[in-house]
Amino acid sequence: MSRRAVRQRLESLADAGVTDVPKAGRRASRRPAAATASPVDASGEARSNASVPIAPSDRDAALEIIRQEVAACVRCQELACSRTNTVFGTGPSAARLCFFGEAPGADEDASGLPFVGRAGQLLTKIIEACQLSRDDVYILNVLKCRPPNNRPPLPQEVANCRTYFERQLQVIAPEFICCLGTSAAQALLQTDEPIGKLRGRWFTHGSSQVICTYHPSYLLRNPGAKRHVWDDMKLLMARMGVDL
Ligand code: URA
Repeated sequence: MSRRAVRQRLESLADAGVTDVPKAGRRASRRPAAATASPVDASGEARSNASVPIAPSDRDAALEIIRQEVAACVRCQELACSRTNTVFGTGPSAARLCFFGEAPGADEDASGLPFVGRAGQLLTKIIEACQLSRDDVYILNVLKCRPPNNRPPLPQEVANCRTYFERQLQVIAPEFICCLGTSAAQALLQTDEPIGKLRGRWFTHGSSQVICTYHPSYLLRNPGAKRHVWDDMKLLMARMGVDL
């Protein structure tokens, strides 16, 4: 690595809130092709109780059916009228880890992709500080449409989108979910507890182990909280078996 590349890497780690420099670690990002999970179809119905291998192409096909439903969804009239694109989610359907955010912002609405604006760039740095790349993880949001002026999701909007994000997570069946911020953590865990109380602890959702941390947008306004996010990422990477 050139000196310039090393300097850029160190700057990126500092931006992500890394307080200690990782050495080259073990990557543990994707399940093997024949990994097992509870078999589901796109409607979210379990096909049987047995744990059988799910081919990645089956997962991809199930996600595509849900993606098309989302693209046609008009349950939230205000959001459906104002959106440019729905934002379904990106990443490998066999990802071990999902990052679960709140809702698309302006950049995501324009591109149809999650976390591509400033908060997304910070999320990318956090992921890379964890020795992973965005291609290793699946990224999705609670809401699939941008709320006006980036206001927080309304309870009815979360209820309307629940069928989509729950089925997405059921198909992917990640080993780990990292909730980013209050809206995501409260929606997934169906709690009113604030993120400050939820972060740094383990929960379960279906077959997934769940950890919550601050949202990257919050970190842009409160850089001092980055060290807490790095603490949460260290807990997560330790359970995933990634050496930092
Ligand atoms: N914030 C989110 O919660 N999700 C995005 O996709 C972008 C910003």
